[in-house]
Amino acid sequence: MYLSTLITLTLAGAACAKPIKKIKRQTIQDTYDFIIAGGGTAGLVIANRLTECPSTRVLVLEAGPEPGVVANYMYPGGNQNLAGTAIDYNYYTLPQKNLNNRILPYHRGRGLGGSSAINGLYYGRGSASVYDHWVQLGNQGWGWDDLYPLSIKQTHFNPPNLNDSFDHSFQTWDPTAYSNGELQIAFQGYVPDSNVGFIRAGEAIGIPIVNELNNGNNTGVKQGTGCFDSRLRRSSSYDAFYKPVQNRTSLDVLHYASVTSIQFTKGSNGASRATGVSFTDQPTGQFITVNATKEVIVAMGAFNSPQLLMISGIGPQAQLSQNGINPVHINENVGQNLNDHCVFSIMALVEQTASTSSMSVSASTLEAAQQQFLDSLTGPYTAPSGITNGFQQLSNATLRAIGAQAVLNAGLVNQSHVEFLYESLFYPSGLAFLPSSGGTSSTGGTSSSAYYVPQSNLSYISLTASPLVALSRGSVTLKSASIFDAPNIDPNYYSNETDRVVAINAFKDLRKLLAHPAIAQFTIGPNNGEVQPGLAHIPANASDDTIFDYIKANTIPNWHASGTCQMLPEADGGVVDSHLRVYGVQNLRVCDVSIIPRLPDVNLQGPVFMIGEKSAQIIKEDYNLQC
Ligand SMILES: Cc1cc2nc3c(=O)[nH]c(=O)nc-3n(C[C@H](O)[C@H](O)[C@H](O)COP(=O)(O)OP(=O)(O)OC[C@H]3O[C@@H](n4cnc5c(N)ncnc54)[C@H](O)[C@@H]3O)c2cc1C
Repeated sequence: MYLSTLITLTLAGAACAKPIKKIKRQTIQDTYDFIIAGGGTAGLVIANRLTECPSTRVLVLEAGPEPGVVANYMYPGGNQNLAGTAIDYNYYTLPQKNLNNRILPYHRGRGLGGSSAINGLYYGRGSASVYDHWVQLGNQGWGWDDLYPLSIKQTHFNPPNLNDSFDHSFQTWDPTAYSNGELQIAFQGYVPDSNVGFIRAGEAIGIPIVNELNNGNNTGVKQGTGCFDSRLRRSSSYDAFYKPVQNRTSLDVLHYASVTSIQFTKGSNGASRATGVSFTDQPTGQFITVNATKEVIVAMGAFNSPQLLMISGIGPQAQLSQNGINPVHINENVGQNLNDHCVFSIMALVEQTASTSSMSVSASTLEAAQQQFLDSLTGPYTAPSGITNGFQQLSNATLRAIGAQAVLNAGLVNQSHVEFLYESLFYPSGLAFLPSSGGTSSTGGTSSSAYYVPQSNLSYISLTASPLVALSRGSVTLKSASIFDAPNIDPNYYSNETDRVVAINAFKDLRKLLAHPAIAQFTIGPNNGEVQPGLAHIPANASDDTIFDYIKANTIPNWHASGTCQMLPEADGGVVDSHLRVYGVQNLRVCDVSIIPRLPDVNLQGPVFMIGEKSAQIIKEDYNLQC
């Protein structure tokens, strides 16, 4: 009886749009023009833009809750407390063979807003050359001159409050890089002196102080920009692109709705066409199929978008047959080419005022900091741990000298090669980030806490390096044919030798940064306060292998997974074409971080917001939607 009800609904959908009354908490139709699977960073931008056309009916299906179920998502200081909450998938990687077989936690937003609701808040766009490279790879329309105006259009800059005692010297911006868009950009509130010291210290490793990083030149350092509104609340995709338009009658958004498969039909020409999706409505427990007259748009992120394609029959032959999935289109590239940035840090003991660690010394200090934020928008809770990043471009001569000729061969010039991040606390904390609690892990590797265990009554800063070259590629594969089984995530960090040499060079630069008087003045103890790894473990003249031993033990993701549904010609490893249409089928696109063919030299939410905007522009043009 249940099945026949479903079928009736599906057939009825083809003829007319009736509300699916079975979902009591919210009535939705059984047919839409577009169905967006995944209400995350890109998905909600696309939903907003498509429903600017009032007659275009859009349904967004999001697996997780509204982000407000974890209210700390909104606050800068709350961002250290989102891992493992109800809005985090809390995935794990496969053992990383080049990192002592360590298994790394991999956070990922689960809820409306997606990862933009749990991320570190840093906002950047990257270098123009990165996007121009995408065009050279075969993606017409994706150059910097195409994307930059879209990025300007969707952002708004909120000037800082200058009536406080902080040093505002480096809170500079170019007003022409922003407009009156929905996404709110601002500087953090509380600025420890060591943060300003970090900016000045960039000169130790050739990072110039610049006025703006978001206008196509992403080499340099300044006070970083974050996704905040004028009251220092997070501006996620949910806040910026969904909430203001939630009453549009052409837009339905269902959260706690997990898409389980894409439905296809075969046309008379033999081609498979996406006709809709099936999903599980979690609150009612019902399985529903809903139809799309125009398209299904997959925006489930770097791990779940390729997972859904494979589960629905689009993927590598072996993946489909091993999991008993009927093939719709064999494409060996789906889930392959996972490309990510990773990070490692050195940590120093500092004066209390140079850090925000003291905020977390005890429950009462944390409570007081939070209250101060809520009462007066001041204090350390107005600062996320780290959104002041320096972007270093290595000269061709340096790249050759360190053995990174491959960077030049790959054409990664006119861009930054390493990101240096300032964190106003001990990051990453070995105990929090690794499955074992010190010494040798269950998987045979050494954990970060073997070097130093941070003390709750002391204050720290961390200097972090993220090689942006990232030539290593990994994969996302299926554990089973169920969307509810987390996929196998293998970033395969440091499988490419060039990533290793760039990282070792970056480690040496981290120590140069820490030794610069602009930072060293705030440190306590010998060796510029360095407590991890410390000279006892990694001496000043340590060999590259010894340095890499530390990197292997300390590396965690920078959360920039991408590339698993690359936008490239299929013969070159692609899953989608330059209009984001999935090869081999009709009426199906992927529009999220997974389409990135070559990682930008920056953190990814700025690029993903641009991808969302560009996707909507392409779809509107393809359907001649005039709005
Ligand atoms: C911990 C963390 C910190 C980060 N820090 C920064 C930073 O400081 N600055 C920066 O620029 N970038 C940062 N990033 C990266 C950036 O946030 C992401 O690259 C970007 O948000 C990805 O956007 P997306 O739209 O591709 O995916 P997401 O925003 O992750 O959206 C995917 C959505 O699909 C939903 N979904 C998945 N499966 C299903 C299903 N079966 N059915 C329905 N819905 C489903 C998910 O729940 C999610 O809402 C960070 C990321 C993380 C995880």
